[in-house]
Amino acid sequence: MAKKALALIDVQVGFIDGNLGIGLDKFLPVWENIAKEVGGDYDYYVVSKDWHPSNHCSFKEYGGPWPSHCVQDTKDADLYPKLQELLGKVDPKKIIVIKKGMDAKTEEYGVDVVREMKDIKYVKVVGLCTDYCVSESARMTKKAHPEVEVVCQLNACGEIAVDTAKAGIEAMKATGVKIL
Ligand SMILES: [Zn+2]
Repeated sequence: MAKKALALIDVQVGFIDGNLGIGLDKFLPVWENIAKEVGGDYDYYVVSKDWHPSNHCSFKEYGGPWPSHCVQDTKDADLYPKLQELLGKVDPKKIIVIKKGMDAKTEEYGVDVVREMKDIKYVKVVGLCTDYCVSESARMTKKAHPEVEVVCQLNACGEIAVDTAKAGIEAMKATGVKIL
């Protein structure tokens, strides 16, 4: 049977009020909508985490554009505690965790959230941030699985800046991702 997945992209402390945070004020309204989706009727919950070694190439001190963030096993890399709590109520068999950015030399904004799960026919992508990781993950998934309906729900996504978020949204549309 065709199955539905909710992809929760990088809902981590670092992107909320941590080292690369959009700020709690901006995040809380988004969180309300994410929480509603987690309580929805999904067959899978794909949870992506930015999970960097401390010398990752995306960090300023190693020549990248970003301050150090989401270093493995630090608080900055933790899932938002309220998400952790909600996922605790979900059947663990439905939860798939994907870590990314683990190779110090490679930037990895996005992940194909469907991967080898052939029974998924619908994916809703939410999380942080619209500009980069949400957009890239939605696009990578759509490109790898054109037959899957990939949808991005904007009111459940946080953005870093208006311009870059707009570019991220346009790129998703151009790839065939449906924008809600
Ligand atoms: Zn990162």
